[in-house]
Amino acid sequence: MGYFTNIKDTASSIFEGMSITVSHLFRKPVTIQYPDRIPRPLKETLPDRFRGFLKVDMDICTACLACMNDCPIACIKIETKKDENSAAKERVLTRFDIDEAKCMYCGLCTEPCPTGAIHFTREFERATESIHDLVYKFVPEGMTIVPFKQPKKETAASSEEAQEA
Ligand code: SF4
Ligand code: SF4
Repeated sequence: MGYFTNIKDTASSIFEGMSITVSHLFRKPVTIQYPDRIPRPLKETLPDRFRGFLKVDMDICTACLACMNDCPIACIKIETKKDENSAAKERVLTRFDIDEAKCMYCGLCTEPCPTGAIHFTREFERATESIHDLVYKFVPEGMTIVPFKQPKKETAASSEEAQEA
C-alpha cells in the first residue's frame, strides 16, 4: 500500500512542480536586461542621498590630511613632500589614493574637508577583474600637485580696522 502511495505522491509533486514551470512560459518576463535595455538610466532612479564612489577635486584640495586622518579603516593614503625644484620649496602632493574596494561609504572623510574637495558621486559601476583597479589615484603616478591655498579668512581685527578706516 505504501509503495503505491509513494508513486502517487511522487507523480503529484512532479506534476505540481512542472505546472509552475509551464505557467512561467506564458508570463511576461521580469528579468531586466541591465544595463542597456532599461527604460531610464539607473542613475536617474537613485535616491538623492545615494553614496557612490568618492571623488576628490584636486583643484581645491588643500592637502590638510583631515580626510585621511578621519577615515576609520585607512582607505585614504595621502603623501606630500617639499618640492626641491621650486624656489619656495613649497609642499606638494605626491599621492592621494582612495581604496574604493575597502571603503564602507560612511562619509566620515567628507565631513571635515574644509573645501568640500572630497565628496560622493553617483557612480557605482566599475566592474573589474582586479581589486587593485579600485584604488583610485587622484595624483597620477610620478606627478605632483600643488595644494590649493584657501584665501585667509577676514579676522575680527582686520574687519574692525576696515570699519575704522
Ligand atoms: S567613506 Fe568612510 S570608509 Fe570610505 S574613505 Fe571615507 S571615511 Fe573611509
Ligand atoms: S580632500 Fe579635503 S580633507 Fe582631504 S586633504 Fe584635501 S582638503 Fe583636506
